[in-house]
Amino acid sequence: MRLILLGSPGAGKGTQAQYIVKRYGIVQIATGDMLRHTLEAKNDLSVAVKRAMDAGELVSDELMIAIVKARLLQSDCKAGFLLDGFPRTLAQAEALHQNDVQLDYVIEVKVDEQTILERLTGRRVHPGSGRSYHLIYHPPKNPGVDDVTGEPLIQRKDDEEQTVRRRLAVYREQTMPLVGYYQQWALRSPEDAPRYYQINGDRPVEVVRDEIISILDSKKASADHLG
Ligand code: AMP
Repeated sequence: MRLILLGSPGAGKGTQAQYIVKRYGIVQIATGDMLRHTLEAKNDLSVAVKRAMDAGELVSDELMIAIVKARLLQSDCKAGFLLDGFPRTLAQAEALHQNDVQLDYVIEVKVDEQTILERLTGRRVHPGSGRSYHLIYHPPKNPGVDDVTGEPLIQRKDDEEQTVRRRLAVYREQTMPLVGYYQQWALRSPEDAPRYYQINGDRPVEVVRDEIISILDSKKASADHLG
């Protein structure tokens, strides 16, 4: 199974991705996480990437396409993969197509902007473990510190309100056109286009998860049957 999870920052793609990859035995390719790992090396490239991420801007298509192309060549992708955070621009989507990357599904997780703003600006993380909290929806036992280690929690720079607003605008301007791109492709040539589904992500994570799984299970069953 090969799929793209599409959705604005904070729509819950990462959480849903974890359920999906576990259930179907595929790998998650989360470009934001991949970039965050590259920041550990201190060089000109990582400084430029950090600057773009902290400002809520996109990293260049050229770099992102190179990173994802290299990742897709690794053997663990053979059994299938889930792209989380890629493609984010039409150029990135076109690059997948031009490189003959076959896709079965594009699943869009849709959440309105005000909800996203509350979700992201309230998020706090424990840098050591990546454990994530929310000031209102999932507060730590003691304010400002991690439940397990007692170490201080931080707000990611790209979760600050001004940056979140910028990330949402970037999503609207650069990534939303992908919805039309995949929908039109499906109309034009349904035999090779990925199937497109839109899911309401403004519901409890388990409800969203079950809806995605029911789509993937039923399509997988019919594909197995035909295959
Ligand atoms: P994410 O964790 O997916 O929200 O990504 C965090 C940041 O990484 C984004 O705000 C961008 O600066 C950068 N990034 C991640 N994926 C891409 C991509 N496909 N194209 C451009 N920039 C990206």
